[in-house]
Amino acid sequence: MSDIKNTPAHEGQPPYLLTPGPITTTATVKEAMLRDWGSWDGDFRAMTKQLCDQLLIVANAVDSHVCVPVQGSGTFAVEATLASLVPKDGKVLVLMNGAYGQRLAKTLDYLGRDYVALDKGDYLPPMPEEVEELLTQDTGITHVTVIHCETSSGILNPVPEIAEVVACLGRRLIIDSMSAFGAIPVDAQTLPFDALISSANKCFEGVPGFGFSIIRRSALENCQGYAHSLSLDLYEQWLYMEKTGQWRFTPPTHIVAAFLQAMAEHEAEGGVAGRLARYQRNQQRLVAGMKELGFRTLLNEKWLSPIIVTFLSPQNPRFDFEEFYNRIKAHGFVIYPGKLTVVDSFRLGCIGQLYDEQIDQVLQAIAAVLDEMGIDSGHAELPEQNAVTA
Ligand SMILES: *Cc1c(COP(=O)(O)O)cnc(C)c1O
Repeated sequence: MSDIKNTPAHEGQPPYLLTPGPITTTATVKEAMLRDWGSWDGDFRAMTKQLCDQLLIVANAVDSHVCVPVQGSGTFAVEATLASLVPKDGKVLVLMNGAYGQRLAKTLDYLGRDYVALDKGDYLPPMPEEVEELLTQDTGITHVTVIHCETSSGILNPVPEIAEVVACLGRRLIIDSMSAFGAIPVDAQTLPFDALISSANKCFEGVPGFGFSIIRRSALENCQGYAHSLSLDLYEQWLYMEKTGQWRFTPPTHIVAAFLQAMAEHEAEGGVAGRLARYQRNQQRLVAGMKELGFRTLLNEKWLSPIIVTFLSPQNPRFDFEEFYNRIKAHGFVIYPGKLTVVDSFRLGCIGQLYDEQIDQVLQAIAAVLDEMGIDSGHAELPEQNAVTA
């Protein structure tokens, strides 16, 4: 399919991205961008339709939901979804356990929507019983938001269990599945949600430039006039697309073309199941190898996602993240800084065009870099008060 995955990481080649988006894409995905499309033209309208149809199939949401793409990065799609679905007098329960949950609350601040937050800190998931209690206590809550995979720590939140509680109590669920959809199974017929948001450049392995929201049709139909913003109004975007087959404003044509190629490759790999299997293999190989080098993961094993893993920074005083980063880059890999409030850490992504060879190479690179820096082990202790016991 692609020659890039067999290219050893070395100088002169662009580095592999061990980041949770943008990620390393195939040569064929990049090649799909080598021509121009007119936004009004029938060819491109057919591409938009195909994109939406295929995403609905992946979520098993063809009859119940619609897919509304929107220009911009993933955050634009989150903001657009909140603005378009939560009425001005609505109230949101924000399930928060990391930077993306915090960002979601901040978005509601901007939008002037009322909310309460359940903040679990950096490495524990919101539990369905807690959600049940909060929803029972506060009958004013209309919507619940949850981050599917909280990319700041890598935690995979128990979304199916939470969705069940939210549905039982008659509230509406909005899932930020940015870094999960495409690799973590989603079935709209058994997992009740009003909206599930994702973007082009994560588990589908496209290039960045648009996000999309899979929205329950019966919910969206009632949302005219909710949005505060012209360009982020998903009700209007949907209506216009239904009528004309076009995006309201200039679409990211090349990115859509690349995404269709990425979706064909996703399907060829075995769809969600195939992609999940590869990411799981990457994660297990990576964590095992890192443990051999003395590193420890932030999270308890059972909350580790196959998307991205947070490792504690070595306690050795010679460790300096900037230097570590630059040296690993010189070996052909770009890693990701930590995003935690309480402990120093860094993250390694498992998504994108990464296979056993690349995982082995990055482990070799990290071992070599520790050596170069005079650090004998990646060992770190989690401070006692932060010990992960759940
Ligand atoms: C990547 C990501 C986003 C969106 O980030 P952008 O930088 O705007 O693309 C939102 N939520 C989660 C959980 C993410 O991983």
